[in-house]
Amino acid sequence: MSARRQPSEERLLAFAAGTLSAPESVVVATHLALRPETRAWTELGQAVGGAVLDDLEPSVLGLEALDNTLARLDTPPPAATPAPRNADPSLPAPLRGFELGPWRWMGPGVHVRNVLGPRDGACRVILLRIAPGQSTPLHTHGGVELTCVIEGAYATEEGVFEPGDFEEADPNITHQPRVVSDKPCLCVAALDGEIVLPGRLGKLLAPFVRL
Ligand code: ZN
Repeated sequence: MSARRQPSEERLLAFAAGTLSAPESVVVATHLALRPETRAWTELGQAVGGAVLDDLEPSVLGLEALDNTLARLDTPPPAATPAPRNADPSLPAPLRGFELGPWRWMGPGVHVRNVLGPRDGACRVILLRIAPGQSTPLHTHGGVELTCVIEGAYATEEGVFEPGDFEEADPNITHQPRVVSDKPCLCVAALDGEIVLPGRLGKLLAPFVRL
């Protein structure tokens, strides 16, 4: 597995330290739930990233932060808490407890729904479902976009992304993920800002593909 299919070292360390925003944490936690080997890396992060961690405020880090963060991944929601009305128990554990908005059409073969709850300013979490052979519109990003594949697979110029693979995109990256699996591709993404469609056609399409 390419290192590019994992969250960056900085993001993993921020997650371990509990300083990552809620939407980004949900996507990183989904990746770690699907990729235990990356999780082992995170557990080592304290040692590997010692120099980085030393620079952080002691109050921000706390030695228990890593343990607490990892423990949260293991802890099922309390039995007394009823599942939200529109929760989906088939999703990876970090996504199971959230109520989900309705599926909305975003383009041919492309549907999107909101994961309600985790939010940080303009940054929010969505689920994206793309049919086999279909693509998202060619787009760049108003901010950081973190994506983790849950089912199926898509390809960009960077290669193929399969379940558990993690992609980090930002305003410097223009891409058009295309589904290469023979079943629909389901992804979770944290989006900070709107996606941006380049060119004149993009301006015409923009009102229809708002996420
Ligand atoms: Zn994108």
